[in-house]
Amino acid sequence: MKDPTMLDNVFERFIKNDSVFIDREVLRHDYIPDNLPHREGQIRCLGEIVAPVLKASRCSNIFVYGKTGTGKTAVVKYVLNRLMEKAREFGASVRVCYVNCRLAGTEYRIYSSLCDFIGVKVPFTGLALGEVFDRLKAGLDSRKLLLLVVLDEIDSLIKMRGDVLLYELTRINEALHRSRASIVGISNDLCFKEFLDPRVLSSLSEEEIVFRPYDAAELQDILWDRARVAFRRGVLVDGTVGLCAALAAAEHGDARRALDLLRVAGELAEREGAEYVLEEHIRKAEERIEHDRIVEALKNLTLHSKLVLCSIYLLRKAKINYTITGDIYNVYSELCDQSGIGPLTQRRVSSLINELDVIGVLNSRIVSMGRYGRTKKTRLSIARSLIKEVFATDDRLGRLIGYTPRCLAEFSRGRS
Ligand code: ADP
Ligand code: MG
Repeated sequence: MKDPTMLDNVFERFIKNDSVFIDREVLRHDYIPDNLPHREGQIRCLGEIVAPVLKASRCSNIFVYGKTGTGKTAVVKYVLNRLMEKAREFGASVRVCYVNCRLAGTEYRIYSSLCDFIGVKVPFTGLALGEVFDRLKAGLDSRKLLLLVVLDEIDSLIKMRGDVLLYELTRINEALHRSRASIVGISNDLCFKEFLDPRVLSSLSEEEIVFRPYDAAELQDILWDRARVAFRRGVLVDGTVGLCAALAAAEHGDARRALDLLRVAGELAEREGAEYVLEEHIRKAEERIEHDRIVEALKNLTLHSKLVLCSIYLLRKAKINYTITGDIYNVYSELCDQSGIGPLTQRRVSSLINELDVIGVLNSRIVSMGRYGRTKKTRLSIARSLIKEVFATDDRLGRLIGYTPRCLAEFSRGRS
């Protein structure tokens, strides 16, 4: 290294108290503030629905939905934390088990974390799903409990694996004699109901709470509450907080996005040694966040998802914007062939396409073909250059993004 004191300077500047932050943790996603402005209605409503458990009655199942960053997780955790405090005060045997279904990923892991929570041992893998569920029921009934099961981001599980878990869980009380369970299902997807069997839907949504997006003024209130604790006085001006709020409101009123913008802008300002967080920091933060989000998502895809995405990339490169799954599958099979990998079935590929839709890389919609029935049409929803950028660093995909599939040549001949 040319200048050995360089790193010293970096660290010392950080330690010296001229950071723009006082406490940046306050801006993190999992921080739950004591005050949740503009959610008083939802807080009261949820409180009223769960209150019966304090008097030893089961409460209704609740279905909570709204777009990402509208405060669902924060409000549910906040209310249920307070409920648990009250339950302890009154000696009510209430338990709240929170599971994030997207992170858990499978029914097995969701059941096993519920088991774990009530002190029933199950191995990491190996048991039949039914067996884990039976142990859960037996465990619950070995004591007299009121269990509130929070299934957060339930939509991502259901879209990939169907609604069997919800079906079983919403009927669990039929098999219980002493304990009772209620479900709080949280969905980021408003159209999630379409994925549910009507019977499951009607038992899950005994009560429903909707979280509508925040507008720019509400986001400003939320941001200032957090910013006052997070930043040193005077570092922020009205204009910058307003800009974060406006940008997040223009998208879909996402408080998480607004907080991220503010945090990343603060970090950029700090790295520059700037005294204030300015509009230009917010603009740079915006680019950085979006870029990082997609790059991260692309890097973490499984090989077959990458091959599916690469197929859609090649179709798009051949100027085919909206593609049906059959065409994607043809290109995909050829790419598998090129790489010496056995292809998955078309059905599996179709569900990989759904997963890519969930993370926002693709956009699929079902269109009616009149008397030919319905078909799924898919297009890329991110820039082609971004896929190229990420895949270029990957040995196998780096080669494939330059490849011209034979079936595409036939495809365009067939069209003309
Ligand atoms: P969702 O679960 O709907 O995606 P979250 O509850 O995770 O949204 O909220 C995203 C972020 O925004 C969290 O850091 C949360 O603390 C914050 N947030 C959301 N709504 C509010 C609010 N009304 N007041 C303060 N912070 C909020
Ligand atoms: Mg959430």
